[in-house]
Amino acid sequence: MKAVQIRAHGSPGTLTLCDLPDPIPAADEVRVRVRACGLNRLDLWCEAGALPIPITLPRIPGCEVAGEIEALGTDIDQWRVGDRVAVQSNVFCGTCEFCRQGQESICLNSQLLGVQRDGGFAEKVVVPARALLALPAGVDEVTSAALTLAGSTAMHMLTDRVEVKPGDWVLVVGASSGVGSAAIQIARELGAHVIATASSDTKRALALKLGAEFVVDSTETDWPAQVRQLTQKRGVDIVIEHVGGDVLRQVFQCLARGGAVVTCGATAGRKTELDLWPFFVKQQRLIGSYGRNHADASATLQWAAEGKLKPVIDRVFPLAQFAEAYTALRDRRVHGKVLLCP
Ligand SMILES: [Zn+2]
Repeated sequence: MKAVQIRAHGSPGTLTLCDLPDPIPAADEVRVRVRACGLNRLDLWCEAGALPIPITLPRIPGCEVAGEIEALGTDIDQWRVGDRVAVQSNVFCGTCEFCRQGQESICLNSQLLGVQRDGGFAEKVVVPARALLALPAGVDEVTSAALTLAGSTAMHMLTDRVEVKPGDWVLVVGASSGVGSAAIQIARELGAHVIATASSDTKRALALKLGAEFVVDSTETDWPAQVRQLTQKRGVDIVIEHVGGDVLRQVFQCLARGGAVVTCGATAGRKTELDLWPFFVKQQRLIGSYGRNHADASATLQWAAEGKLKPVIDRVFPLAQFAEAYTALRDRRVHGKVLLCP
């Protein structure tokens, strides 16, 4: 099979398109013929060796896979060759105390697909059957590979980590990102009023198109005051945040009494200061969110099938043009998802 391998870390790293033997599924695994695989910031961090996780090289990257099953391990009886599937990128163990409670997002033995085991920038990939999700009718492989990671991250934040009630005010930081664009759609669908932040006219226009009622310019220093103004100084009930650093401190200025900040990332910095006095006086909450449970990934595909959640796709590349795809994402020359179709 054709596959992209990371041979050496760097930015750019040494990545090669090569011919490898087809991988053989173990008893509890299946081999998937990859039809589409999303490119994510995680892939850039993996390429650069910038993740706080040891990575064995060479490694086939690619964590957001959709395709069809072409071979079954000996223990597999609930799937058939030809079934159209998506693969959950956080490959959970299924047996630890958290997996047994359906909290696969905090599995004790989780492996990231395309980081800790070979992923989907290849014609074929082998994965444990427990990580599979059936693709609903009407959801094609490109849509699935553009939604499963960021869409289910947002689904986990808005439907598992907090409860959004109709009429709630939800602030979505970084509206044009994968998580942001899905979060706007999910929050709206749950009946919330959505305010989004974005750094350019194009990104703000996208946020409005996706269902945000108001947008603020995150490059203006008083944007938290603008959010307060939009809610008659009350503040928002929920903040969906994935930037971290100083932005995490700023979103508390936008938060209502009793409100919650849900955060799933720290691209702008892992450390920040928090003024504890208003935090406890206003009985606010700061909630961590990581990845997704199997139920969140399943709900994401279901919502896509019902037309309630749509991916924002920038470009689709053939596998051979992987370097171009990586460069586009690295140089931030994309508006929406970049995918590879092996
Ligand atoms: Zn587990």
